[in-house]
Amino acid sequence: MEDVGDAGQIHRVVISMRAMLLFCALALGCRAMAYVPDCNVTRGIYLSAAPLLHSGYWGPYQSGFEFSDVAHSGAASAYCSSVGGTGSGGGVSQQVAVNQQEAAPLKVSGWSRAVEVEGQNREYRYSIYLDIRHTDGTGTYGIQAQFSPGTHDWEYSETMVELEKPIASVSFFAFVREKPGAAYFDDLFLGPPGGENLLKNAGFEPDDRQDTLTRDRTYTTLADLNVNAIHTYLSGSPDYWRKADGSRNANVERFLQTARGKGMGVWLTLGHPPMPGFKDADDPNFPVYECVNGPWGQAWTEGLRLAAAYDLAGISLVPDEYNWLYGRLRQGYEKHADPRVVEFYAKLPPMCDCPICRQQYRAAFGRDIPELDTSTWFAAQTEPYLDYLQHRYDSTTAWMKRSADAVKSANPSVRTDSLICVTPICSDFWWGPGVAWDRVGYEADIDFPTTDPYIQLHNYLGDSTHWYVTETAAHLTGSTPKRQCGIVLEASRLRKEFRPLDPVEVYGSALSAVCHGAKELAWWHYTHITGTGAAANPELSYACVKGVYELLEQADGWLGGLQPHGGVAYLHSRASDDLWRFYSQPEPNALLTHSGQNERYAAVAQREMLYYLFRRGVPTDLYYLEQVTERQLADYRVIMVPFPFAISADRVALLKRVAESGKRIVVVSEFGTLDATGRPHPTPALLELLGLKSAPSGEVADSLSIDMSPPKIPDDEQFTVYADVDVTEDARVVARANEIPAVWSRQVGKGAVYFMSGSFGYDSVANRDNQERTHDRRIVPDPIALGHGRVLDMVLTMASDGSAFVLEPPEEPADVEVTCLRNAGGDLVVLAINWENEPVECTLQVPAEGHKSTLWGYRIGPDGGVAKLSIEMAPAYTSWSKELTLGPQEAYLLRMLPK
Ligand SMILES: [Zn+2]
Repeated sequence: MEDVGDAGQIHRVVISMRAMLLFCALALGCRAMAYVPDCNVTRGIYLSAAPLLHSGYWGPYQSGFEFSDVAHSGAASAYCSSVGGTGSGGGVSQQVAVNQQEAAPLKVSGWSRAVEVEGQNREYRYSIYLDIRHTDGTGTYGIQAQFSPGTHDWEYSETMVELEKPIASVSFFAFVREKPGAAYFDDLFLGPPGGENLLKNAGFEPDDRQDTLTRDRTYTTLADLNVNAIHTYLSGSPDYWRKADGSRNANVERFLQTARGKGMGVWLTLGHPPMPGFKDADDPNFPVYECVNGPWGQAWTEGLRLAAAYDLAGISLVPDEYNWLYGRLRQGYEKHADPRVVEFYAKLPPMCDCPICRQQYRAAFGRDIPELDTSTWFAAQTEPYLDYLQHRYDSTTAWMKRSADAVKSANPSVRTDSLICVTPICSDFWWGPGVAWDRVGYEADIDFPTTDPYIQLHNYLGDSTHWYVTETAAHLTGSTPKRQCGIVLEASRLRKEFRPLDPVEVYGSALSAVCHGAKELAWWHYTHITGTGAAANPELSYACVKGVYELLEQADGWLGGLQPHGGVAYLHSRASDDLWRFYSQPEPNALLTHSGQNERYAAVAQREMLYYLFRRGVPTDLYYLEQVTERQLADYRVIMVPFPFAISADRVALLKRVAESGKRIVVVSEFGTLDATGRPHPTPALLELLGLKSAPSGEVADSLSIDMSPPKIPDDEQFTVYADVDVTEDARVVARANEIPAVWSRQVGKGAVYFMSGSFGYDSVANRDNQERTHDRRIVPDPIALGHGRVLDMVLTMASDGSAFVLEPPEEPADVEVTCLRNAGGDLVVLAINWENEPVECTLQVPAEGHKSTLWGYRIGPDGGVAKLSIEMAPAYTSWSKELTLGPQEAYLLRMLPK
């Protein structure tokens, strides 16, 4: 009896423990956690999650696979199924290193058994499928060994791969996709004909499924690199995240738990959501649009909601390579069996005018969507097209807000990110992808606007220097009231025909991004850093990434709440970029204030002003003119408005108020021709504030004469200014060209406004001869036009009473970056980078009232090595000063404590 009694008691204890576990599981299911490593700047890396997720050789394709005891040989196979439609599918995947020294044939083969796979003929949708990477970095995609659809017993398929270039690696898939059906795969082969099978666990047999070796090695490498953030991609299929029976994905949960145990957070980008398929043009599912306002947008948001219920650190609000254009759709259907489908997509405009968009446009603007072209240009410069631009931004902003809300409702502590790599800042073509960063940042409640300013990949514009990373970080930070962003960086060249990156382009870019608001960094890509990427220089990439992450880990305690110290608030106008472009095609409109047909004029003019501030060592905070608030501007003495071609009346009133309150406002080139939606103001909106009786017009180029203690301007340097200028009596003219007022100031309340009347932004570089669309050599920044630079120095010195610069003006400008910030604890933080391959001398001047005289911190050099460093400063007027010699590609991150 006694024994029985004990047994009964134990039984009851077990039952109550089960009940408790069930209760915990339910509670966790309702309120997921998020694990974000405890630091100011997360140190991330992109990698394939497969070896971390599965601890097996096989990864999933889309919704994945299960091991089955149905077997062609041995005891097991892989079973997968697909529900049908765009983006659906199931199957297996494996990354295979081939490492051919010279081109040689490969055989791919395998066995499959089908259950009701839709279709008439063999095709790629049910096949073994290879994407190949060659040793020179190029790819060959979509090599297949196809299987028969329908229902059948084991069937063999084989293909010989004979390519001209040697193969580095193969992404191997076996799947059913984009159509309903299920299949078993077994005894797969990839390797030299008659040679060794390069696939691991090719027969899915249970005794050799485990691969903890790769997983363990990966975590060890990440720890050695000082990484604490894993960035990766997983499926956008709802059934990947929640099975039909409501259960969660155990592989993902185990992966997140292990990563957390190692102090690493996980950031995720989902794949495109599956969409219903269609047979032909008569199918009720035809046509499918990838519209943010339609079922595609809803399915995407729903996928985010499901994934956010997991213990993630962050999740991207858009798919990888996202843009709201239909090139992808057109390509996807150009070989469809029904010619009506092909024709429909061939004629589909790249910008959406689907029935839902038509209805929303009509509701918002009271008229029909105008005819859209098969390009991203508009047929006419008319109001319906201006409204269509608003419709695009309204739609993506609302969609991203719905997505952010879905994520936060599932898990409030998951960070909302956005890897929008098709909306780089350099393109300044905002309406193409359809994303206005500032509206997303201010209206959609995104936490970390993120993009990937790859220096080399954007050479298609020819102007992509290392400043492009700095510029991008400043823009993303400025696009959100949270004043923070994420930056994805290249750790090495991505293709063999590209030049190797210089070390400073790796660690310097990271440090510069952090000093302009990046709180999440991630490298593209693990394979490049560890050497399996075909074009990498792994030793150097590894050393530079490890070094700069070591530095950032050491310095992390002083990177909280960084703000530029002194310096300038720079108000970028996105509307001016857009509307200049809008009015430049098909013919330049008379509203444009400068001649020539350059649709990027406004964007380049603004960028040159920003680059001038960066290059001259002016701590600068970027805001968007369309969004900035008076409160945000409270701490700045000087506000620069680089190109207010389009500006709304309330922004003009804001500038007037802040000037009256004592700010100095430097306005360059423009006087408010348009409102922010593109309609011309009856009279330009900034005339009164700038001290103009009428709108300036015409253009004249001449030398500049300056009244008081003029800076040294080269005799032959010409300045292009407005020809007809009528200033008010209270304007104090400082400089004239051919007797025409060119630069003046005007008292406004307790403050002042300075106007530079002409092409002072666009013309601030001497030439653009450096800009080449090449991958052979590093593009160096355009030479500053000496006279223009000195006039800008003069105006900024007047406006800031000399306090704006952290660098003394150099005789010969070099490519150095110096800025000064203040952290949450009141320390000053100084960044200094020599981007050149020669030593550079410069004089640092830190406005350091109330701080000790020693700068101390870290130095990183071209071998990636990090060393401690201290610099004793000398008092000079109101600042601490020091002449520095920065070694080739040397970077310093230093701090100065309060007294
Ligand atoms: Zn649409």
